[in-house]
Amino acid sequence: MEQKPKGTRDILPSVVNKWQFMEETAKKLASLYNYDEIRTPTFENEALYNRSVGATSDIVTKEMYVFKDKANRTLALRPEGTAGVVRAYIENGLFNNAQPTKVFYIANNFRYENTQAGRYREFSQFGVECFGSAEPCVDAEQILLANQFLQNLGVKGFELQLNNIGCPTCRQKFNLALKQFALKNKDKLCADCNNRMLTNPLRMLDCKNPNCQKVFNDAPKLEEFLCDECKTHFASVLSLLDGFNIKYTLNNKLVRGLDYYTKTVFEFVAQLEGKDITICGGGRYDGLVNEIGGQKVPACGFGCGLDRIIYFIDESKIAPKDLVYIANTPDVSIDKAQYIANVLRSADIMVETNLTNRSLKAQMKYANSIGANKVVILGQKEIETGQFVVKNLRLGSECSVDAHNLIKYLKIDSQDIKKITKTYKD
Ligand code: ATP
Ligand code: MG
Repeated sequence: MEQKPKGTRDILPSVVNKWQFMEETAKKLASLYNYDEIRTPTFENEALYNRSVGATSDIVTKEMYVFKDKANRTLALRPEGTAGVVRAYIENGLFNNAQPTKVFYIANNFRYENTQAGRYREFSQFGVECFGSAEPCVDAEQILLANQFLQNLGVKGFELQLNNIGCPTCRQKFNLALKQFALKNKDKLCADCNNRMLTNPLRMLDCKNPNCQKVFNDAPKLEEFLCDECKTHFASVLSLLDGFNIKYTLNNKLVRGLDYYTKTVFEFVAQLEGKDITICGGGRYDGLVNEIGGQKVPACGFGCGLDRIIYFIDESKIAPKDLVYIANTPDVSIDKAQYIANVLRSADIMVETNLTNRSLKAQMKYANSIGANKVVILGQKEIETGQFVVKNLRLGSECSVDAHNLIKYLKIDSQDIKKITKTYKD
């Protein structure tokens, strides 16, 4: 039998409500902050990612799904969201609109990774990008949005970590100092870090090897190399966050896995199976638009990993399905039940009918098993008298409802039904 590729998952109907909850919460919140949706292709020219994410990054060197199409073009499946959005911003001339341009996306990404809990080869991100403002209030607003997103999903116990990784000028001096420090300690550092110290020293700080992390405790600190502009910008971000009453910790080893960041970088970290796991990461990227062929346009964004956040959501916040089942007695044909179902559906009521010709008793059992909230019994007598029996499966109660009141009654929620007498009248 065919099996799904390693690192992919089927999201089955029984859990899809959790995904819908995350996606709907994201969309609603993004629109409250005036971010409009953008959809970019699932694959791009490979060169885009080499130029933006960085030729020495883990994504490009190890994790990207690269393939040739029939015309020998070299393409790559999207490994992260920002590069494609930046390309679209430039290619479609969105910089000609009044700035800033604020966009969000919910999209799947692909990375060839070692799979484990919260690390897959296909995963989904909710991300936002804001182009055309260098102001610290943009960084702070996005952090506020991400924080509120996690709160609205009921995620608890996460920590916001922040760092300032400066601009290319201050970083160049730091990279040199860090490289010298690493060369002196090269025997204590892992093979990856030995490579990174030559190609991209800053990236070493992101190493997950605990021995390397111990060595870097004594490394030169980035903050000692920052220029005044970078320092002032970051101080403003922090003071805005203080004003919003958002708690954070400063982590001077936080550099993020992608090359394009400048100044503010941040991550929201939670604990999964006793280990720290990043559920959202982002920051400012003032040089990227220019680097991939656009004007000098400052920008800032984040990506939240929905496949990780799903472990932490509060499921009690998900509204239960409000399904009505129409049970027809043997003397009533299915088309009558379907006619009533369609009337109810056009009034926005979710309805199921007897699609496999079950007996009345079997229908009651089935209605329970699919989580129906209420059952309308449809017999010949009900059709003649226009009086329907409605059973409330959650409350175990029953009520007789006039045909012309049926829609109104079915829309009343279970709690209120408790207060209503045996026969429902206007
Ligand atoms: P990590 O250090 O865990 O590998 P990263 O720095 O590579 O993460 P980013 O590129 O910053 O991750 O992506 C943003 C978010 O997307 C991450 O914080 C995480 O929540 C999620 N993410 C990244 N890679 C995966 C993956 N393979 N599976 C599931 N979620 C992922
Ligand atoms: Mg990674």
